[in-house]
Amino acid sequence: MADFRLTAQQLALRERVREFVRQEISPRLQEVDADYREGRIAHEIIRAAAGAGILALPVPEAYGGAGGNNLDCAVVLEELAAGDGGIATAIGASWFGQTPILMAARRERREEWLRRCAEPEPYLVCMAMTEPAGGGAIEDPKQAMRTVQTRVRADGDELVITGTKLWPSNFDVASLYTVVATTDAQAGAKGSCLVVVERESLGLSVGPAVHKMGMNADRNGEIIFDMVRVPRDHLLGEVGDGLRLLQRTLAYNRVGAAAISIGMARGALERAVAWLRERSVGTEVLSDHPVVRYLLGDAAVKLDAARLLAWRAAWHNSQPGQHSLYWASMAKVYASDVAMEVTTRAVQLMGSLGYSREVGVEKHMRDAKIVQIYIGPNELVQQEVGEQFVADGGSMFY
Ligand SMILES: Cc1cc2nc3c(=O)[nH]c(=O)nc-3n(C[C@H](O)[C@H](O)[C@H](O)COP(=O)(O)OP(=O)(O)OC[C@H]3O[C@@H](n4cnc5c(N)ncnc54)[C@H](O)[C@@H]3O)c2cc1C
Repeated sequence: MADFRLTAQQLALRERVREFVRQEISPRLQEVDADYREGRIAHEIIRAAAGAGILALPVPEAYGGAGGNNLDCAVVLEELAAGDGGIATAIGASWFGQTPILMAARRERREEWLRRCAEPEPYLVCMAMTEPAGGGAIEDPKQAMRTVQTRVRADGDELVITGTKLWPSNFDVASLYTVVATTDAQAGAKGSCLVVVERESLGLSVGPAVHKMGMNADRNGEIIFDMVRVPRDHLLGEVGDGLRLLQRTLAYNRVGAAAISIGMARGALERAVAWLRERSVGTEVLSDHPVVRYLLGDAAVKLDAARLLAWRAAWHNSQPGQHSLYWASMAKVYASDVAMEVTTRAVQLMGSLGYSREVGVEKHMRDAKIVQIYIGPNELVQQEVGEQFVADGGSMFY
C-alpha cells in the first residue's frame, strides 16, 4: 500500500536543513552569486554543511555517515535548492561521484574514501564524465560509451589515465574524481571503466572556473589527466562495468536533479507569493487577482506533480535491490521544465522587482536553466523515456 507521507525522521531532517538554509545560505545569496571566481563564500557554506553532517547523509552508517536513502537525499536537495541551486548542485554532484564508489569500490578503498566523505570537513567528489567533445553522448546508453575519449590502460600494478574533462561540478575543489574512461572506445561497453583519482595525483591539473549564467556556487571548468597513475584497485568493478555503473548512478542522481529543480521553483514561488500578498495595484491586492491566482494555481499543480514524480522514483530507488532510471528520467525532465516555467513566471508576476537582483527570484530563474541540460539534456532523456514507453507497449505498470 502506498504511503505518501514522509517519516518523522525525514520531516525532522527537512526542518534541520531548512534551518541551515535560513542561517547559512539565505543571508549570503548575492555574495555567493558574485563570488564565482574565488568561490570562497560557497566553500564556507559547504564547510558548514559538512560540519552539520549534511554532506555525510548518503554515506552508510558503518563508515560514519547517516545512511540516508535516495528519498532522504531528495528531501535535502529540495531544501538546499530552495535557498541556492548552486550549493545544492555542488553537494548533489558530490553524491553523484560517491554513488559508484559505494556500489563498486574494493572493500578497503570504499571504506577509506567513504569515511573521509563522512568527516565534518569538506571532502567532495567530482563525477568527471563530460568531455570537450560532448556530454550528452556519454550519458546516451545507445552510444555505449563509444564517444568517451579519456583513456585508461594498465601498466604493471597501475592504471594510467589520459584525457580532458570539461564542466564537472566541484572540478577544482574535489578531493576525489570518479573518472569515466575507456580502455578502447570501439569496444563500447566492454571497454568502459570508472576509475577513482585522488586530487594530489601527479598529472592532474585544472583550468580556471567558468563564469556561467547561474549556479555560481557550483564550480565548473576543465580537468586534465596527463598520464595520471593510480593503483589498480582504484578501478570500480572490472573493465567493462563502466556503462552499467554510470547508468545505475544516473537513476539515483537524476532524482537529485529533479529535487533541485523543485527546490528552486519553490524558492521562487515562496518569495513571489509573499510579495504578491503585500502588493496592491490600484485598489486590488495582487494575490487576490483572478489571473494571478490562476497562474499560481497552475504553478502549484505542476510543482506538486513534479515532486510526486521525484518522490516516487526516489522511494523506488530506496527499496533494497531496486532502482528505476525510467522513473528518475521522467522526474528529471518534467521537474526541470517546470522549474524553468515557474521561476520565469515568478519573475513575471513580480514585475521589475522580480527582474532586479534585489530579491533573488531572477537568480532562481538563471540557476534553473542548466537543469534542463545537465545530467542528460532533456531532449536525450525524453527520448530514453519514449523508447522505454514504446517497449512497454504504451502501458505503465505499477
Ligand atoms: C552547473 C553545471 C554542472 C555540471 N555538473 C557536471 C558533473 O558533475 N559532471 C559532469 O560530468 N558534467 C557536468 N556538467 C556538464 C553537463 O552535464 C553537460 O554539459 C551536459 O551533459 C551536456 O553536454 P554538453 O554541454 O557537452 O552538450 P552536448 O552533448 O554537446 O549537447 C548540446 C545540446 O545538443 C542537444 N543534444 C545532445 N544530445 C542529444 C541527443 N542525443 N538527442 C537530442 N538532442 C541532443 C541538447 O539540446 C544539448 O543541450 C555540468 C554542467 C554545468 C553547467
